[in-house]
Amino acid sequence: MLSYRHAFHAGNHADVLKHLVEVQILDYLGQKGAFWYIDTHAGAGAYSLTEGYATKTAEYVDGVARLWQRDDAPALVQRYLEVVRGMNADGELRHYPGSPWFAAEVMASSDKLRLFELHPSDFELLSHCFADGGRRVKVDKANGFEAIKAILPPPPRRALTLIDPPYEDKGDYQHVVRAMKEALKRFATGSYAIWYPLLQRKDVGDMVRELKKLPCHSWLDVTLSVRKPSQDGFGMHGSGMFVVNPPWTLQRELEAVLPWLQDALAVDDGAGYSLAYHENGHQKN
Ligand code: SAM
Repeated sequence: MLSYRHAFHAGNHADVLKHLVEVQILDYLGQKGAFWYIDTHAGAGAYSLTEGYATKTAEYVDGVARLWQRDDAPALVQRYLEVVRGMNADGELRHYPGSPWFAAEVMASSDKLRLFELHPSDFELLSHCFADGGRRVKVDKANGFEAIKAILPPPPRRALTLIDPPYEDKGDYQHVVRAMKEALKRFATGSYAIWYPLLQRKDVGDMVRELKKLPCHSWLDVTLSVRKPSQDGFGMHGSGMFVVNPPWTLQRELEAVLPWLQDALAVDDGAGYSLAYHENGHQKN
């Protein structure tokens, strides 16, 4: 069953964290030579904030809209906003880029994108978004968890793979761990970024604990909460990004951004962040 539509959530606090981290990794990889961007759960590619689903929930109001007018943003936030501004050239925040759009904007025109999306409507929208992508962008209607097996390792032997499932199917927590084990067997040196929600559910902690045991060179785990967990136990109070084989610069750049971001996106005094990094047996929090 595919009921999740990302348009309801486009530009919310979780998208901000996810896309900031994505942009940092892409910029870093791009400085070092050719690479691929692989998106297992690509979504629709671009979202309207003033029409359709996004207007029903207006989650972007407490997300990207809070950053939009700020002139004191740290460098990484400015870089992220540059891409959002590229979509809103008249200065009004009406559109929000999805993860593949960020990638297409930030990467060199010779670097390739491989995108997977299973929902028929979002697949159509995504295909339309990249209709002019030529051989640079390939969009497939496929289960991203399975499909990546066939393309790892990619020809340049350098890649960022974003894994961003909806987690509406509770099996997704285990699908992520399984897909990562398979992926690392095929391509141990790739970078992988896994988005996850902060919920009062045991599955979330269990998944992150499993990810920390993966046989990889290094990992980074960043979370950003915007509110206190609700008393009824429902709802997302923040989100996290677990990055396998992160750029060595990611931790430093996030340290410079997270206090500002916590302050900018806080809904109540439950807002906070965490950042952990692990390499070759040494853990720094
Ligand atoms: N990555 C997108 C972004 O940041 O703009 C958002 C993706 S959204 C959180 C998750 C997407 O995964 C939805 O569009 C959903 O239809 C799609 N999806 C769900 N299960 C999938 C699967 N097994 N393989 C590929 N896509 C899937």
